Amino acid sequence: MRRESANGIVFYQFEGLDGAGLTHAILTRLGGVSQGPFATLNLGHTVGDDLNAVQENHRRVFALFGVDRGQVVSPYQVHSAHIRFVGREHGGTVQNGTDGLLTTSPGLMLLFRFADCVPLLLWDPVHRAVGLAHAGWRGVAGGVVRAAVEAFVRHIGSRPEDLWAGIGPAIGPCCYQVGPEVVASVAQAFSLRPDLVHHRADGLYLDLPGVVRAELEAQGVRQIEMSGICTACHTDEWFSHRAEGGRTGRFGVLVMLDR
Ligand SMILES: [Zn+2]
Repeated sequence: MRRESANGIVFYQFEGLDGAGLTHAILTRLGGVSQGPFATLNLGHTVGDDLNAVQENHRRVFALFGVDRGQVVSPYQVHSAHIRFVGREHGGTVQNGTDGLLTTSPGLMLLFRFADCVPLLLWDPVHRAVGLAHAGWRGVAGGVVRAAVEAFVRHIGSRPEDLWAGIGPAIGPCCYQVGPEVVASVAQAFSLRPDLVHHRADGLYLDLPGVVRAELEAQGVRQIEMSGICTACHTDEWFSHRAEGGRTGRFGVLVMLDR
């Protein structure tokens, strides 16, 4: 990923999407007005931050990328495997109970929010369709990665081998200590490669971005770009639910097909 900065907002972009005709960004926590644990570019409405600050943060992000609120659709993320196909008529809405959205509508921006869970961006250059998914361990155990690929196949007619996938900053195996029940849940959902669970003196550590990658590969996706950034290791740039004891903000990930 490449680090960029504009109007005080620091964000990253996947190099694999250069020239694709998409607007996309993995926003950091830098460039907003929120204070304290939400400093500064918090886009989460339900984390305890001042809603005026959250609104101003959105205003700055939308201004930077040249969209208005009526062009943006977000999910109300619930760690599910529900993926929804959206069109221009969904602009300005929040889609309840869903953790993935995909669209073929130019000028419709998908905006998701993260603090350790895995951001997954999918792009079908053949059919010009984009999608985002939110993949925490519950979602992964529930099949959200497979569901996202299947949604492209069902709604768009995509071939998995044509899909391009970007895996954004998330908590890495360096920091993601989990209980055996988490490993068991993920392993129950699909065959969990042993190298994706690290055994250390103080317990088990799960490589969640690696699990998402393995699941994508199992679905036939071949082109995958990994950010390799651990949110918990870098709270100077990222919100991390785990590293900050649950009291933190959410950074945004956005994508839109250019008109
Ligand atoms: Zn880490």
